[in-house]
Amino acid sequence: MLSYRHAYHAGNSADVLKHWVIERILTYLAQKDKPCFYLDTHAGAGRYALTGDLANKTAEYRRGIERLRGAVAVPEVLSNYLTVVEQSLNGEQGHVYPGSPWLASKLLRAHDRLALCELHPQDYPVLANLFANDARVQTFNEDGFKKSIALLPPKERRGLIVVDPSYEIKADYAGVVKHIQRLHKRFATGIYAVWYPVVDASRVANMMAAFQRAGLKNTLRFELQTSDSSGGGMYASGMVVVNPPWTLCQDVQAGLPWLAKRLALDSSAGFSIETLVPESSV
Ligand code: SAM
Repeated sequence: MLSYRHAYHAGNSADVLKHWVIERILTYLAQKDKPCFYLDTHAGAGRYALTGDLANKTAEYRRGIERLRGAVAVPEVLSNYLTVVEQSLNGEQGHVYPGSPWLASKLLRAHDRLALCELHPQDYPVLANLFANDARVQTFNEDGFKKSIALLPPKERRGLIVVDPSYEIKADYAGVVKHIQRLHKRFATGIYAVWYPVVDASRVANMMAAFQRAGLKNTLRFELQTSDSSGGGMYASGMVVVNPPWTLCQDVQAGLPWLAKRLALDSSAGFSIETLVPESSV
């Protein structure tokens, strides 16, 4: 059932987009002294050795993060994400790419709180061990969809919820939208960031239509395409963000065109930025 292992994909172009958007949101939240809460419903193993066998099976990171390292004239909005990644890649543990939990733990402060859910029997112990000595972090070997309902609203009343399933189950495309609606009912002021892959454009179109029908005010969508769709696999990926910080759209506008050029695999590469539901909708 749980055949997906994120280690095969760590540091690919989809991770770059997702982790950069998470970095922008958490950097914004951390500007205020007030504590905040971070919830990762599908956390993975936390971080990934790019020298490992799994990462090198398809070496997706070479078409992702490796294309950004050492770049010149990097847009300012990408510099903090790239600095945190570089610290991890050059850290004591060797060539390690930070997953969303590790990235969040580096960006958040001593008085913030992190909750991480992961079901995989091999990835969960790695995740739990990684944060065993970090008092801010709770890990759960539980279904992130169910557990997130129980964890919201957080006592901090401000925070980011990242929903990042593997979409092995096709029902996840529609299920994620319903789930965000449920979470939003419990914590209407939370920021929600949903990652999605584009393998079949019609599935994504249905998902976006469902977000529009859900009508959660202030819902944005960012998408990055790296190649044409003929290869049969993921050729683009995106993030839907509900209740983004007011700075997020301008940050993405400043960085995504550069990312799209840098990560392009062929001439069909590109990006899009769209308001799915405006701030003023009912
Ligand atoms: N968020 C991670 C990151 O960016 O570094 C990557 C997560 S990966 C795309 C999805 C993860 O969800 C996998 O590790 C998988 O084992 C886990 N998973 C699948 N179904 C789950 C569920 N119902 N609850 C929690 N974790 C689940």
